[in-house]
Amino acid sequence: MASIAILERKCTGCGLCVKNCPFSAMDMADGHPVINAACKVCGICLKNCPEKAIIRLESRSRTVDRSAWKDILVLAEVSGGHLHPVSLELIGKARELAGPLGWKVHALLIGHEVSACAQELLHYGVDRVSIYDHDALSYFRADVYAACMEDEILRSRQSVVLIGATALGRSLAPRVATRFRTGLTADCTRLELRENSDLVQIRPAFGGNIMAQIVTSFSRPQFATVRYQVMNAPERSPETSGTLETHPLPAKARSATTLVSRTPIPPARSICDADILVVGGRGLNRESDLDMIRDLADALHGDWAVSRPLVEKGWASNDRQIGLSGRTVRPRLILTFGVSGAIQFTSCMNASEHIVSVNTDPDAPIFSVAHVAVVADLYEVLPEMIRSIRGGSREEA
Ligand SMILES: Cc1cc2nc3c(=O)[nH]c(=O)nc-3n(C[C@H](O)[C@H](O)[C@H](O)COP(=O)(O)OP(=O)(O)OC[C@H]3O[C@@H](n4cnc5c(N)ncnc54)[C@H](O)[C@@H]3O)c2cc1C
Repeated sequence: MASIAILERKCTGCGLCVKNCPFSAMDMADGHPVINAACKVCGICLKNCPEKAIIRLESRSRTVDRSAWKDILVLAEVSGGHLHPVSLELIGKARELAGPLGWKVHALLIGHEVSACAQELLHYGVDRVSIYDHDALSYFRADVYAACMEDEILRSRQSVVLIGATALGRSLAPRVATRFRTGLTADCTRLELRENSDLVQIRPAFGGNIMAQIVTSFSRPQFATVRYQVMNAPERSPETSGTLETHPLPAKARSATTLVSRTPIPPARSICDADILVVGGRGLNRESDLDMIRDLADALHGDWAVSRPLVEKGWASNDRQIGLSGRTVRPRLILTFGVSGAIQFTSCMNASEHIVSVNTDPDAPIFSVAHVAVVADLYEVLPEMIRSIRGGSREEA
């Protein structure tokens, strides 16, 4: 991996490189420029240095001092003033991974007026919460948030960094990973930690046909993002444990973005939050047949979703799609009608508590994940289910 070095004997300390660096990757210290983790080795400083005091080093080193990096950092994302549930799921996983190596679990909280969230984190077994609370952090700007995360990692040198695969996490994770010139695996579905501290980042690859095991053997930290509802959140303890540590806004938390105006979008209900889901697949003959799926969802006080082909046909929007290129769900009850059970679909719903599947094909792969397999025509089963559930609720009333 290449890097930049400064030849102090040639450097006059003119500061031109610091001024011209487009990534704010240089600071002046004791009259000389110092390169920080934001350096992308773009080489602009080399070209601008009048003394030719900056050089590019090509390193062939493929080793990392693993002993210099330990513990796990979880980004505790704040959404609408509350902790995003994916952060709690990641804390649960981090605790499980950290245990055998005797590591600590740290949470990183970035935002403004987040003290209630910080207190809440102490109920989930983190050893420490690092807090960056400042009005410059009241809304998400990737560069400013990245500077805070970089500051925390530089200070504590956590070996593993876990981030939710939310819109915020997906924007932040690659920026910080790039600052450390290390690896990032997106959308992991499983994580394991080897004795030698390599994080095994497992995720579907090649269209879901294989589960790839990815390791970042030659650099630290190891960054991974994980989707919401893939891991288990720990129980909230009535007791608190761990410490709170507040840090000032890092000097380099400057933004290239200016907020002109904000239009809050009312939070939409997501299929990920449903307790009961009724799902239609390509076994449905026409768009209007989705009404039956919606009717059953209504009767069960649940929500409805689809497989990808129905989104491709324009029958439903992408936010209703379950699967690798849609959402991961884990409801208490999921009922599928006319869904074959391709791996790209099942890998994102197979952790549901109860799975009931209706399909005319007795060999449909969906039956390998279903708890109740109904080999039948959905056009016979669906209307009957709607009638009997509605009849039942009328009788109850
Ligand atoms: C990179 C990649 C990403 C993908 N991402 C996703 C994703 O996010 N989500 C997703 O869903 N797919 C995804 N796919 C597509 C996936 O491979 C499948 O093609 C898709 O899931 C099939 O959808 P289906 O089960 O509804 O349709 P089909 O596979 O066509 O299955 C229809 C099923 O309905 C049954 N059937 C037919 N008539 C009836 C009836 N009257 N009553 C009962 N059963 C009936 C049939 O027996 C059949 O099993 C992805 C593919 C790739 C390559």
